[in-house]
Amino acid sequence: MVKEKDSYGTLADDPEGPVIQTIRLLNKELPELLVAADVCLCEYTDHGHCGILNEDGTINNPASVARIAEVAINYAKAGANCVIPFGTFLLTAGRSIGYDGWTN
Ligand SMILES: [Zn+2]
Repeated sequence: MVKEKDSYGTLADDPEGPVIQTIRLLNKELPELLVAADVCLCEYTDHGHCGILNEDGTINNPASVARIAEVAINYAKAGANCVIPFGTFLLTAGRSIGYDGWTN
């Protein structure tokens, strides 16, 4: 689906990428439809993880949360009525039980 992946998941919220284009198309063709967008980076990162990695390959939680939030905001700006930042949910759920050591 995505031609060029990178460590940041840049294409996740590319204005010409599939998600933002689909959100816009759904809003145009089916304006009464509630559009919910899953916010995920793993499909767009060259390492396949749903976040930003540290140099040692572990997940950089603050950078990951910031990037996922950025993508969620861009999906909302494109017209999504609801965004579902799944990666952020996992980080938040982990912290709620005292776990902050996600490695991949
Ligand atoms: Zn993901």
